[in-house]
Amino acid sequence: MSNKVPFSLSKNRAYLTISIFLIYTYYIYIIVDTASLGNTLNHSNIKYMIGVLLKASISTLFILILSSVFKLKYLNLLLFIIISIISSIVLFVKIQYGSFELGSYISIMETNTKETIELFNSVDIPLVVLLQLMITPLILFRTNQYLGDLKIKLILISAFVLLIGLSSSQAKNNSIFSVALTGEVVLVPMSRAYYILFNMPLLRPIALSQSYSKLKEIENSPIKAEWENIIVSNSSNKKNYVVIIGESVQKSSLFSYGYHRKTTKPLKDTNGMTLISDPIAPAPQTGMALSRILAINNKLNINNNLNIIDLANIAGFNTFWFSNQGQIGIYDSPITNIAKRTDLTIFHNKSYEQANSDFVLIEDLEAHLDGNSNNVYFLHMIGSHFDFCERTKNAIKLEDAYREQLKDDQNCYDDTILNTSIFINKVVSLLESTSLDYEIIYFSDHGLVDIERKPYKSHGVGSLFQRKALEVPLIFISSRKTSSNMQNTTYFMRDFPHTFAEWLGVTATQIDYTKSVFHPSIKQEKYALNDSSEIIYFTK
Ligand SMILES: [Zn+2]
Repeated sequence: MSNKVPFSLSKNRAYLTISIFLIYTYYIYIIVDTASLGNTLNHSNIKYMIGVLLKASISTLFILILSSVFKLKYLNLLLFIIISIISSIVLFVKIQYGSFELGSYISIMETNTKETIELFNSVDIPLVVLLQLMITPLILFRTNQYLGDLKIKLILISAFVLLIGLSSSQAKNNSIFSVALTGEVVLVPMSRAYYILFNMPLLRPIALSQSYSKLKEIENSPIKAEWENIIVSNSSNKKNYVVIIGESVQKSSLFSYGYHRKTTKPLKDTNGMTLISDPIAPAPQTGMALSRILAINNKLNINNNLNIIDLANIAGFNTFWFSNQGQIGIYDSPITNIAKRTDLTIFHNKSYEQANSDFVLIEDLEAHLDGNSNNVYFLHMIGSHFDFCERTKNAIKLEDAYREQLKDDQNCYDDTILNTSIFINKVVSLLESTSLDYEIIYFSDHGLVDIERKPYKSHGVGSLFQRKALEVPLIFISSRKTSSNMQNTTYFMRDFPHTFAEWLGVTATQIDYTKSVFHPSIKQEKYALNDSSEIIYFTK
């Protein structure tokens, strides 16, 4: 009898070691992002790996503590099954999507039951996930038996607290979005509590649910129109108005603006176009730029109660917003908030990662074209959003001699411009098919800058901020015009609401036509914002 004890003790130790090893391996696999790891062993890689090991240790300790704390069989059974199910979901998402980020969380939250069933029918659940689902409760019951000792529990808890303190000191180096006092979405350093939740795979859904509900709040924040004395000058002429909002389009990539590749038709072969020579986007990123294009703003303040959709609504237009961008996201939710002011919104994607071809928007327009009333349609394209080659994988491509000389990403980017141009032409043909006159505006929310490394184009943020990042196309197309021309004007798109009002033939107390692009002597302050919300003046 007496020599049996050490044997079972060492057997227990072996079981415990294997269990801890399995849990630890699981967390390393979940946490590590192979894309962040380079091939060579350098300082930043080593630091990254230490971070991964530290986070995996914290999660492992957390599981060991959870598994050892209770002695009630049924309570443990319930707890272990819950842990097992969440772990399986996390593992499944990791295998399927790479990591469990806000985008995946949004997709899950916004998917209805029918779509969920379809999803489960269409994907194979990997064997390793099922295996994990079954053995996790067994492992946890084992560790529960071996870690009952109070002294061991205290050691585990102390180690856990110590490692959390150590790891969460990195919180300030990570950013999370927040809503500034001005109502704008900004990036701020993570709090320690959020950082801990975010980096423990089992608890990450709690962190993500916080972010998600904040985004929903932004999307649904109340807007009350403040427009005064709206007067419509030409309400008798019924027309269709279409505002096409492009994405990440550099002005310099359009053939009609002087690019050497035929990404658009030559200007002389087009009818009714007016190109503005030098439009300047409000900021180098979608959220900051577009929220200013859509509402009256001054420096850091944007007044969503003075947005152009309410202006059109009150002036008696029917308004529509068709979007191939994401509905929810740090940069998307503030736009959705305004978009929802239209009479009808269609969002094709919950999160922008799901976006496919922009031509779905043509179908929306076709389905809702009305030949008998004043309508304003907003078409929000995914356009030239990164990843360019993903964007154009099923699209028409440029076939010219330059293709050979350029890198894949550069060719793909040019292909996105070609497809935007085809898109605009399709809108024109569709409007031509009705008996009504029409007016079209096309612009891009912001441009991009050229960089040396892949993907050769980047948002002009941080040290990359420059005028080029803000240089966008702005094109008007009118059914009443026959020729096409370039209008030599520098125009700060920040004042777009005034242009929009004049374009619709609407005046209001808060509208100032001297800030419209059509005014012969435009009076604008010459500034834009960088991504840190600093006001940058442009003298030239
Ligand atoms: Zn953008």
